[in-house]
Amino acid sequence: MTLDLDRLRADTPGAARVLHLDNAGSALPPRPVLDAMLDHLRLEAEIGGYAAAAAAEPKLEAAYDSIARLIGAAPDEIAMMENATRAWDMAFYGLAFRPGDRILTAKAEYASNTISYLQVARRTGAVVETIPDDALGQLDVAALERAVTAAGRGPVRLIAVTHVPTNGGLVNPAAAIGQIARAHSIPYLLDACQSVGQMPVDVGAIGCDMLSATARKFLRGPRGVGFLYIRRSMLAAIDPPFLDLHAAEMVAPDRYVVRPDARRFENFERNFAGIVGMGAAVDYALDLGLDTIRDRAWGLAARLRDGLAALPGVTVRDKGAERSAIVTFTRESEAADALQRRLRAAGINTSVTRRRSTMADMTDRGLDAMLRASPHCYNTEAEIDRFVAAVAAG
Ligand SMILES: *Cc1c(COP(=O)(O)O)cnc(C)c1O
Repeated sequence: MTLDLDRLRADTPGAARVLHLDNAGSALPPRPVLDAMLDHLRLEAEIGGYAAAAAAEPKLEAAYDSIARLIGAAPDEIAMMENATRAWDMAFYGLAFRPGDRILTAKAEYASNTISYLQVARRTGAVVETIPDDALGQLDVAALERAVTAAGRGPVRLIAVTHVPTNGGLVNPAAAIGQIARAHSIPYLLDACQSVGQMPVDVGAIGCDMLSATARKFLRGPRGVGFLYIRRSMLAAIDPPFLDLHAAEMVAPDRYVVRPDARRFENFERNFAGIVGMGAAVDYALDLGLDTIRDRAWGLAARLRDGLAALPGVTVRDKGAERSAIVTFTRESEAADALQRRLRAAGINTSVTRRRSTMADMTDRGLDAMLRASPHCYNTEAEIDRFVAAVAAG
């Protein structure tokens, strides 16, 4: 399928105002997302929040169905969360680790995840091991296999990897990692925050047991909402780190029973307008087709890399066999922060990705900060060319 670019842009109120190349940060939502949220907020104001939630029940349930369809899961395997970090946390902190248990992870891991590994290692005596990259810069699958099968070491209790890191085009070989996890019956947690919405992500094909994502990035949903996927067979292995009266039910004065489905990871109080908006964002993406979105967004990213690579003093920094819609680069004559400020003054949105967000990877590469430009399917070739010209102009 090819995309109707005019319709895509007409659907995107922000497209007329800014040149938005920060879809890895917070994308421009399409009008159906905005409308779904405004409708719900208006209803809350008009009839009260609880009545509005009751009236929106079919829409709320439909959001679970849509997310399940998006990632090839069942609706009872989905929990609505306030963001990707808390979604990931609910899975990770719910796993039991003993002294000597090993957690295997990748180089370009998001700092929030790394901080959690270190905290849990300190608390439990578990050991964190970073699997090295291969020559292409993605997680080395053979090295992972060797780490899993190494004799005389503690049991591998978890493989936790970021699918598309926040700091570059890299796409980690999630399905090859999944094959190893499955072959050795090791729980596999995938941080899919940057991949969901820009490319097809199927939990069956990947073989992950847990997956976290956010609405506001490539999914083009609202801020302050995300979701968690937990494979049904994993529920028993995770003790939710927090429980409330929505996640569990009092059945006697001294006894509670936890919900049977993934909603045991949710809170009672949730951002209902956000959930409805996220549902609309998923429907919008499904309607366009994730293959189609990927082909267009990745095509624009390739054009952007080519344009930047041709500029003197500019180095494109993306790694991996497959390159996603996240483009990172440095410019000899201009620090990333100064470049971002200059571009913003020209109506161009980008972000700066810093060493502290993906410490191990950036330290290895001797990088402190890079400019990150992340196109989406609604951007145009003309915008990409304008961006490259704007970078060169300063
Ligand atoms: C943005 C990001 C997160 C955190 O998502 P939030 O919705 O801000 O919690 C986690 N992992 C990666 C790879 C990210 O890029």
